[in-house]
Amino acid sequence: MVTAYLALGSNLDNPAQQVQAARLALGGILQTRLIAASSLYKSKPVDASGDDYVNAVVKIETKLNAYALLAEMQQLERQAGRALPADRVHLHNAPRTLDLDILLYGDARIESATLTVPHPRMWSRAFVLLPLHEIAPELVSAEQLAVLSAQVISRLN
Ligand code: ATP
Ligand code: CA
Ligand code: CA
Repeated sequence: MVTAYLALGSNLDNPAQQVQAARLALGGILQTRLIAASSLYKSKPVDASGDDYVNAVVKIETKLNAYALLAEMQQLERQAGRALPADRVHLHNAPRTLDLDILLYGDARIESATLTVPHPRMWSRAFVLLPLHEIAPELVSAEQLAVLSAQVISRLN
């Protein structure tokens, strides 16, 4: 079993509902169980247009390797985003119904064409670090949070 942390985001089609549904769906992935889930957080899009984002982070335990896990996550993204043209925009943080990223996968360091872990941009995103800190305070230092304090983000529940 490997402990992994995943980031969830949505800014289309009732984002809060998308993220809540994805939280449940992630626990339903083959050979995977949900250990903890953060609250939902709302933030303005970074480097992108569109409505506010809703984000959360979950902790899972899984027997899947990182690539198999990513494939399952992408399957969930496709199920949520079916037939939405905005999902074909290839920009970081582009509007989409569901974005699922692997933040950490055990202590693995992966750098391949399709997967980089730890997620290379996680430390510069308050919408990732705040929910991660909520469920795993030992992984995020006060200093790491402090440098992101200018990013406006609010807790939804
Ligand atoms: P960002 O990576 O900045 O959050 P994004 O989530 O908007 O941007 P996507 O368009 O969703 O980017 O993903 C592009 C590709 O990133 C995916 O097809 C996937 O192969 C790759 N990728 C690399 N590392 C990861 C990771 N840690 N988690 C999820 N996808 C990853
Ligand atoms: Ca992302
Ligand atoms: Ca992604």
